[in-house]
Amino acid sequence: MKKILVSECLYGGRIVRYDAGDVSETHPIFLKWKEEGRLIPICPEVFGGLPTPRPDSQRVGDKVIACTGPDVTAEYTAGAEEALRLAKENDVVFCLMKQDSPSCGSKFIYDGTFTDTKIPGQGLAVEYLRNAGFKIFAEEDIEEAAKYLEEAEK
Ligand code: SF4
Repeated sequence: MKKILVSECLYGGRIVRYDAGDVSETHPIFLKWKEEGRLIPICPEVFGGLPTPRPDSQRVGDKVIACTGPDVTAEYTAGAEEALRLAKENDVVFCLMKQDSPSCGSKFIYDGTFTDTKIPGQGLAVEYLRNAGFKIFAEEDIEEAAKYLEEAEK
């Protein structure tokens, strides 16, 4: 059975988001994958040693900066490296990643000004995963991801 790497905040069960919020995915396809045991939940920011809740952070050029001031690039980088290690270890067929996050975003991210402004871009963990050749889907693209899985398992 092919495995899927998934943002842990979508997987649910453990509170990992910066705002301690719950964004558990409830799409029937996702729940089926969960039941089948094919999902590998990962939270790059928790892997990087950051607490929950934690200050909102955004990518600013090559760095990741917290809204409270500290440079958290090292923590985000450590988390991205661990996400990539687990993707390789589990030989995942693709990754389903929470949109807009400075780690897991795959289409848009916030622009680094903390003014609630999104720009096209990707989070640091997604950058690592894509650079290693992994396919990325956002949670809004679960049905497209399901077709991709079907093809991969033929
Ligand atoms: S780093 Fe990714 S998995 Fe962790 S809370 Fe943020 S979006 Fe979810």
